[in-house]
Amino acid sequence: MAADFSWIRAEPTGIRIAPADCWIDPVRPVERALITHGHSDHARGGHGRIMATAPTLSIMRLRYGVEQGGFPVTYGDPVELAGDVTATFFPAGHVLGSAQILLEHAGERIVVTGDYKRRLDPTCPAFVPIPCDVLITEATFGLPVFHHPPVEEEVARLLGALMTQPERCVLVGAYALGKAQRLIAELRLAGHSQPIYLHGAMERMCQLYEEYGMDLGDLRLIADTPKADLAGHIVICPPSALNDRWTRRLPDPITAMASGWMRVRQRARQRNVELPLIISDHADWDELTSTISEVNPAETWITHGREEALLRWCELNQRRARALALVGYEDEDD
Ligand SMILES: [Zn+2]
Ligand SMILES: [Zn+2]
Repeated sequence: MAADFSWIRAEPTGIRIAPADCWIDPVRPVERALITHGHSDHARGGHGRIMATAPTLSIMRLRYGVEQGGFPVTYGDPVELAGDVTATFFPAGHVLGSAQILLEHAGERIVVTGDYKRRLDPTCPAFVPIPCDVLITEATFGLPVFHHPPVEEEVARLLGALMTQPERCVLVGAYALGKAQRLIAELRLAGHSQPIYLHGAMERMCQLYEEYGMDLGDLRLIADTPKADLAGHIVICPPSALNDRWTRRLPDPITAMASGWMRVRQRARQRNVELPLIISDHADWDELTSTISEVNPAETWITHGREEALLRWCELNQRRARALALVGYEDEDD
């Protein structure tokens, strides 16, 4: 008899489901891929057949022009793979379409979280804890220093900056997939009904969220707006465009960024961020540890992020755990 859980292998380029000959979030092109969500470090182009939720497939189509080989799955519906493996996708609460994947084979249950968070996000269904034998968890913010404050507090600070300096605009750097739309949705929930202005690079992803039923309110493109009209308004751009020349067309922008990394002062300084907003689409330390406790797996495998501290926490709590040496997954801006 094979050793426990030997049918699933952590190889440097991804997680391989051996009996089904397919991969989860492979970093190299493969024949059969299961994709947890649309962020570019997880969803890459060039695969043969792709199994993912419909929104994730739409995101991949938008980004890579992938037209063929997509097999849409619905949350909670088991799908039979080759080699007597069953895969079921469940919400991960990370971005639109994001999923954890439950794999069942030979009486064993393994859950791959992909990226996830436990805070409620108006733009995607909430994470569901799935009982399993092995939990393969992300650890992007796997250090006790990472504590994400309530999103309402960060949104209130953003609106406060706007009110106290109405002659300026607030330029927020936010990841184009997920963070930008969540920030807009949270601003709407906070009662901000003013137009929100977008850098051109955010437009299509916002439209895609709207096609999936998310009402983001009055969105306008920067390119169509005279400089003077932007005073007192919020402008959202990709983090990479925060310090670009194009910002000269904005009225004295207050530079902000929405990211879990804004907890680290040095990261904010590197990007000349005046108003750091700690808003993350990943679990923070408390969410990572409380999720392991809640799911209560026989083993925890830790991947992509700060593995060491979470590994140590598992040891101190008498939990079997190991770190997987996967490479190529980075959420620099998230
Ligand atoms: Zn992600
Ligand atoms: Zn990731």
